Amino acid sequence: SIAGLLARTVAARPDAEALVFREHGLRLSWREFAQAVDRLATGLLGLGVGRGDRVGIWSPNRPEWVLTQFATARIGAILVNVNPAYRLAELEYALRHVGVRVLITADRFKTSDYVGMLCELLPPPPADGAIAAANLPDLRAVVAMGAAVPGMLRFDDVAATPADTARLDRLTAVLDPGDPINIQFTSGTTGLPKGATLSHRNIVNNANFVTARMGFTDRDRLCIPVPLYHCFGMVMGVLGCVTKGATMIFPGEGFDPDVTLECVAEEGCTALYGVPTMFSAMLASERFHHHDLSTLRTGIMAGAPCPIEVMKRVRAEMHMSQVTIAYGMTETSPVSFQSMTDDPVEKRVSTVGHIHPHLEVKLVDPQGHIVPTGAVGELCTRGYSVMRGYWNEPQKTAEAIDAEGWMHTGDLATIDADGYCSIVGRSKDMLIRGGENVYPREIEEFLYRHPKVREVQVIGIPDDRYGEEICACVMARDPSLTAEELRVFCKGQIAHYKVPRYVEFVDEFPMTVTGKVQKFILRDQMVLRIF
Ligand code: ATP
Ligand code: MG
Repeated sequence: SIAGLLARTVAARPDAEALVFREHGLRLSWREFAQAVDRLATGLLGLGVGRGDRVGIWSPNRPEWVLTQFATARIGAILVNVNPAYRLAELEYALRHVGVRVLITADRFKTSDYVGMLCELLPPPPADGAIAAANLPDLRAVVAMGAAVPGMLRFDDVAATPADTARLDRLTAVLDPGDPINIQFTSGTTGLPKGATLSHRNIVNNANFVTARMGFTDRDRLCIPVPLYHCFGMVMGVLGCVTKGATMIFPGEGFDPDVTLECVAEEGCTALYGVPTMFSAMLASERFHHHDLSTLRTGIMAGAPCPIEVMKRVRAEMHMSQVTIAYGMTETSPVSFQSMTDDPVEKRVSTVGHIHPHLEVKLVDPQGHIVPTGAVGELCTRGYSVMRGYWNEPQKTAEAIDAEGWMHTGDLATIDADGYCSIVGRSKDMLIRGGENVYPREIEEFLYRHPKVREVQVIGIPDDRYGEEICACVMARDPSLTAEELRVFCKGQIAHYKVPRYVEFVDEFPMTVTGKVQKFILRDQMVLRIF
């Protein structure tokens, strides 16, 4: 179990640095970390939280987040990661859908006043402090980090409960590794986020394989600028470090390219995680060359297509010669493919590497038949990492996981004769122009080679004649870039039907909190602009 994993790491290196939160000026050793977890776990028991109860957390990256992750696991409660970008309606839906009993929240983050929003959702507290919101019948208490709020409990008080270690040990001893321990919402890149139910076995094992592939040891120091609410932060980051006794280092509550680079330099980080847009932003920073990144060795780029040009620059300019690409999804705990630090460079920048240990993979055509080697098919994975299901949604679960246990990812991929997998793109994003299948990723990769292009997203725009027309949405590195210049760049280099009919310049893309471009929103924006 997750509790067993932490106990093992604490026993092996009690005084080594476990957790660093720079923005909060906090540094904890493994022993101090485990003691804080036990106090919080005992405090949660005092609120009536038991095995299988849902505890929601709605907060940006904060030290309390990591403590809550382990405190809930210690007593067998199910942690529900609520997207920090949610507003009232989405929050209410998520809390009701999974029946959250205790909600833990931060006082505020950037422009979001979490507590203020909650006060709108909840009726004024009665004298005894009990929460009785008719629309949230399961909710018993709200715990707020930071300053005291009427009607809410203070996190610091709950977390200061003297630890009842004997009781906690008895509770931990009966946990089953197959128990649900976490409901993680997907990013919401293609629509409404879905709540994936995951077990200890799912996420502890996946975390272990993720950092093993990069050769992590207890001397590694990982910089984690990705959100904790998402599997990238909490599984690949936090749990990945705990399996090896490596130090987890958080630059701040939200992502900032310069704060992240400064964190790497000042903390002597050996590894760094990020989605492609984060690495692009760091490389584009004016202060990039002021930071000494020479301690970096490895890390992960994942979550969305990783442009080859960006990978090359990360290797060459950020000292991350052993950077890996990982592919996965929340529903598979998350990683199923990852390159290895000793794969040939060519493969390391252009593919997601080989399948992880103890997992099976197949690529199928729309009829469900396995495609020949090298051909495009829908990626399906099977094994220990596949989620138990979407919480309380048997219908949606059955659409995603078939009777033989295969998870249908909705992603298109190819696998070559040596087992290297390339992600072609989401099947939802593929467009058909005049009967030809067009994969936006291929055009994006080509346009990235233009020196004046900083970021580019290719989408389909409805067209009377061809069904769909290709639109390239470009964030320019140099404002002199014109649409004509890009079209000329494409001529004779890519097939004529792949040359974008529309080139639109944008200052930013609509994004999820996890840093992924929401093409379905971008498409709506461009349709409005073009027609
Ligand atoms: P939602 O399911 O809510 O629309 P989402 O699919 O983005 O959002 P996640 O579970 O965070 O939610 O992301 C998984 C998806 O991210 C994968 O299905 C895939 O499309 C994409 N992805 C992850 N890693 C890679 C990668 N290395 N290359 C290309 N795409 C990737
Ligand atoms: Mg998805």
